Amino acid sequence: MPRRRRKPSSAAISTEVIVHRITEAVLEQRLPLGAKLAEEKLCKIFGVSRTKVRQALNRLAQNRLVTLLPRRGAFITRPSPREAQQVFDARRVVEREIVERFAEKATSEHFEKLEAHLAAERRAIEAGNVPLRNRLLGMFHVRIAEFADNEVLTQILTGLVSRSSLVTLLFQSNRSVICSTDEHAAVLDALRKRDAKKAVRLMDEHLIHVERDLARLPTIGVQVDLEAALSLPRTRAKVAA
Ligand SMILES: [Zn+2]
Repeated sequence: MPRRRRKPSSAAISTEVIVHRITEAVLEQRLPLGAKLAEEKLCKIFGVSRTKVRQALNRLAQNRLVTLLPRRGAFITRPSPREAQQVFDARRVVEREIVERFAEKATSEHFEKLEAHLAAERRAIEAGNVPLRNRLLGMFHVRIAEFADNEVLTQILTGLVSRSSLVTLLFQSNRSVICSTDEHAAVLDALRKRDAKKAVRLMDEHLIHVERDLARLPTIGVQVDLEAALSLPRTRAKVAA
C-alpha cells in the first residue's frame, strides 16, 4: 500500500500566499538578508509541492527580494553597499535632468496630482504600512519623470527606483521616511516657484540623505530557523519610533 502523506489544507496555500509570507518575514526582519531558503523545507512548512515553491521563489526573484544561484539555491537578497552606492549615483544623474525638464513643463494639474501623492505618502507612514509607504515614496520620483514627459528617462528611472527599493524597504527607519516626505514637499515647493536650480539641489540632497541612511546594512546571520521565521507572528506591526 502506498504511503500517503497527510498535509491538511495544503491545497489552500497558493503561490501568492507563500510570496506574501516570505516577503512579510523579510520586512519584519524575521528572515535575515542572505538567509537560505531551502526548497525542501519550504515544501514542508507550507505543505505544498516543489513546483509551487519554485513558482513562489521565481516570483520573489523577479521582485529582487530573492536571489537564485545555480546549484546553490535561493537566498534572501543581500544588496552590496557598492551596488546601493552605484544605484543612487545613477539616480542622482538621471533625476537632475528629470527635475529640470519637469520645471519647464509642469502644469497646475501636475502639481495637484503630486500634492495628492504626498498626502497618500503621509497616510501610509501614519498607518505604519511599510510596503505601501515604500512604494509611494519611490513612485513620487517616477511621477515627476512621467510629467517631465520623456518615456525613456521614465523607464530608466523606474528601473533604478525598483533596484533601490529593496534596500529602502529594508533599512529605512521611520524617522528617515518622514524626512523623505518632508524633502519631497520641499522639492515640490521649489518647483512650484519655478526655481529649477533650487529644486535640482534639493533633490540631489534628498537622494544623498536616503543613501546615507541606508549605509548601515545589518550583518547577516545565515543560520536561520525557517519554520520559526515563517510561522505567523503573534504580535504585529511594532514600529520603532
Ligand atoms: Zn524620495
